[in-house]
Amino acid sequence: MSETIAQADDFLYKLRHSLAHIMAEAVLEVRPDAKLAFGPPVDFGFYYDFDFGGQPLGEADLTDIENRMRAIIKRRELFECRTVPVPEAVKQLADAGQGYKAEYAQELADTGKASEGTLSFYTNGPFTDMCEGPHLEHTGQVPKACFKLDRISGSYWRGDEKRPMLSRVYALAFEDKVKLDDYIARRKLAQERDHRKLGTELDLYLMDEEVGVGLPLWMPNGTVLREELEKWAKEEEFRAGYQRVSTPAITRKELYLRSGHLPYYADSMYPPMPVDEHDEYYLRPMNCPHHHKIFDARPHSYRELPVRLCEYGNTYRYEKHGSLAGLLRVRAMCMNDAHIYCADEQVKSEFERVIDMYKNYYGQLRMGNFRVRLSLHDESGKFVASDEEQWNTSEDIVRRVLHDNAIAFEEEKGEAAFYGPKVDIQVTNLLGREETVSTCQLDFVMAERFNLTYVDAKGDRQRPYILHRAPLSTHERMISFLIELYGGAFPTWMAPVQVKIVPVSEEQLEYASKIAAILHHDLFRVQVDDTHETFNKKIRNAVTHKIPNIWILGKKEAEESSVTWRRYCIKEQKTTPFDVAHVALQKMRLERAMDNFEDVGLPL
Ligand SMILES: [Zn+2]
Ligand SMILES: [Zn+2]
Repeated sequence: MSETIAQADDFLYKLRHSLAHIMAEAVLEVRPDAKLAFGPPVDFGFYYDFDFGGQPLGEADLTDIENRMRAIIKRRELFECRTVPVPEAVKQLADAGQGYKAEYAQELADTGKASEGTLSFYTNGPFTDMCEGPHLEHTGQVPKACFKLDRISGSYWRGDEKRPMLSRVYALAFEDKVKLDDYIARRKLAQERDHRKLGTELDLYLMDEEVGVGLPLWMPNGTVLREELEKWAKEEEFRAGYQRVSTPAITRKELYLRSGHLPYYADSMYPPMPVDEHDEYYLRPMNCPHHHKIFDARPHSYRELPVRLCEYGNTYRYEKHGSLAGLLRVRAMCMNDAHIYCADEQVKSEFERVIDMYKNYYGQLRMGNFRVRLSLHDESGKFVASDEEQWNTSEDIVRRVLHDNAIAFEEEKGEAAFYGPKVDIQVTNLLGREETVSTCQLDFVMAERFNLTYVDAKGDRQRPYILHRAPLSTHERMISFLIELYGGAFPTWMAPVQVKIVPVSEEQLEYASKIAAILHHDLFRVQVDDTHETFNKKIRNAVTHKIPNIWILGKKEAEESSVTWRRYCIKEQKTTPFDVAHVALQKMRLERAMDNFEDVGLPL
């Protein structure tokens, strides 16, 4: 992915461009011998690459450079452009000792990218740089305190490891100080809440080199999160008329030839395993073909439709090593999958029921406003060959569902599944970047490839439409989002430890064990802190682990059979009879209360 941005006209682009020149000018004041490489605007700011001849800048130099930049801004230096014929430009740059720039100027000329054989140079004050622009009119137009030098990292000239290592100075820059501060605050929050960091701190999952990259091992705490989501999904799917199935994770090549995963999805699949001399087996990248086989196992009347088959299925996809990122991009995943087989006239209402399910889940999880993208086919060859009319009909159905349900969406050509149009649910992360959480697809291809039929009211055989949906996404993706959204503080119903019982002294240990046994028998995840730490340390430990409920037991509580209830992040605490507290806890679990978001109130 390129870090440069292309909107040449907007103020932010000009600002970042201009600031890159101002920074290079300031750097040359401190290091007159520095060689300049590239210095483009990027998301969140800009950078400039320098060769300091083996004596790189330190972080401590950044403040000095920042001060010098402020002085340059005060001088209101004009940005003046002039064009220079290529040979002269190369000579000037070489004479000035700017070898990297000279090399690039020559390359622009050789590849015909120097328009009319000239290159443009911008000068502000004593500083000149070869650059396409555009820039501000003068340095004084840089808004006050809108930038901050961020960090220094190593980089190679043109990304080539055989060339010298350069120093890249990154800077943040926004339209004004408020936007800059906002970004810095959001970035800090995102770093604190990074699911990789919290995943380790809260013992949720583990990546082990010997097991392999992108293959998470879910630890007991993380497994609780998975199972609570699954339990919930199973209840909702049961109520919505789904039937559960269970199918294997490896399968014969023939199945994927029929489905078209070979060759249309081959890039995301692992190499085949030879089995029993003549056979080849694949790890499955999707659950669909197995479900189609189950639908096909016996004849169906129109009266039975829709048939909704669901499974939390393990799938395996090949992702490039470099693209793997914590739980967000993995090679083994478990998906909240289902396939709905329905008649033409049922497609719209089934699609709507699925969209309602998304709304219900995302509302409950407090995932905020999601954005919807309708991904369509295009003329490229990456879609199973099928006629244009079927594509258009299917795309129209999905478009109409979204429209009739007042769901705002954007269309994107060429992003459809290889067997039909899909709706991508996009959620914005803490840094404002959009990620696809899950998809819902309308498939008009597989029924034909698998020869799936049902008998209609007239006794004729018909092809069903198939909906593929996974509202709760994969456990891996969904849980990575939830960890960051909640900052690791899960609601009571999901939390790995739901209640931490903290006896004030050893004298209350017996009472603590008695209460814990009652909760444990009632299937609550409860722990008694019987360590020899001080009382305050015990409370701090429970808070550090973001345990939603702390029950403090002192002399008084033991005598009157009560608990003093303190909830995560709420300073307020209340003493409550144990029986009342127990019932309140059961109610929170049953209702899946979001006590990590809202003050659901402590019982009196
Ligand atoms: Zn520039
Ligand atoms: Zn599917």
